[in-house]
Amino acid sequence: MDIEKNKQITVTSPLLPPLEEFIPYLQDIWDRKWITNNGHYHQELEKELCRYLGVNYISVFTNGTLPLITALQALRITGEVITTPYSFVATTHALWWNGIKPVFVDIDPTTGNLDPNKIEAAITPKTTAIMPVHVYGNPCDVDAIQAIADKYGLKIIYDAAHAFGVKVNGKSILKAGDISTLSFHATKTYNTVEGGALISHDEKTKQRIDQLKNFGFVSETEVVAPGINSKMDEIRAAYGLLNLKHVDDAINARHKVAIRYREALSDVKGIRMFEERTDVTYNYSYFPIFVNAREYGMTRDELYFKMREQNVLGRRYFYPLISDFTTYKGLPSSAPSNLPVATRMANEVICLPMHHALTNDDIEKVIRCIR
Ligand SMILES: *Cc1c(COP(=O)(O)O)cnc(C)c1O
Repeated sequence: MDIEKNKQITVTSPLLPPLEEFIPYLQDIWDRKWITNNGHYHQELEKELCRYLGVNYISVFTNGTLPLITALQALRITGEVITTPYSFVATTHALWWNGIKPVFVDIDPTTGNLDPNKIEAAITPKTTAIMPVHVYGNPCDVDAIQAIADKYGLKIIYDAAHAFGVKVNGKSILKAGDISTLSFHATKTYNTVEGGALISHDEKTKQRIDQLKNFGFVSETEVVAPGINSKMDEIRAAYGLLNLKHVDDAINARHKVAIRYREALSDVKGIRMFEERTDVTYNYSYFPIFVNAREYGMTRDELYFKMREQNVLGRRYFYPLISDFTTYKGLPSSAPSNLPVATRMANEVICLPMHHALTNDDIEKVIRCIR
């Protein structure tokens, strides 16, 4: 049997640093005999991430969901929060875990992000914050969202899980709002196996976050808040430090894939892609296409399953919408009539295989499937 022909082309592949480069880090951790609790590599990773990302205050976490939950705790968010249904379910779960009512607002078809023009209509006296997502690493309209937040006295927490390294006019998108969070999950552009981070903008907030991620301890005998345990251990911090040396090559490789997809698919009738902005530095974390069934001659699902038959494993991110999951379906703002753009995009999207290890043959096979 021809193995290559049956090779599965997956939507992503983890960026694993070369094992031989990791061994010396492990040896050093074994020598230090300090394997978690704000150790050497934890501190080094925070320092290097600040430098790489161009931010001043970062706290690393054990995954990308706990910084979202902790951000809401740190800013004492209550009541209702305006958010997007077009994201990974963790965005809304973070609200639920804080006893906050999610209020879904529709998205902008040109970015997939929360539509600033629709936010104001959803604000009530109970609204305390906005939680947008830079979906696929597309920057939100942060100026418009900030203007609304300022007008109504709301906080902004960006779920920037997809936006590692994304910049607008050379400035990190992670500087927008009150807090931004990242995910370093294995499937993301940059990973620490599992992991995540919280970006804050002043020393005091960073300190409070660091207390909250360590049970609320401020000293050996003092606990000032009902914190949680979401500290990153030394092994993953060291892995993250090493992976940071390889992430630029991985992003460059992704960029090449994006260029080829774009050039090969731009004239396919019924296939839409996002337009790239020249002022944005992207990380090429995802490559979504949107299938217009009438023009393309096949529905999204028909194409999706045809691709699967050929072992081309795209993913329908983000389908179903968060608002369509049983847990959230009953909310008033979950009605599809409130979310027409998100509903359509969720029904049209396929994220194509996009990672650093795709070969030219893989890429051409994906393209042939669609063309
Ligand atoms: C991956 C992801 C998360 C959660 O991150 P984990 O590290 O898996 O906990 C949150 N929000 C979005 C948009 C994500 O894609």
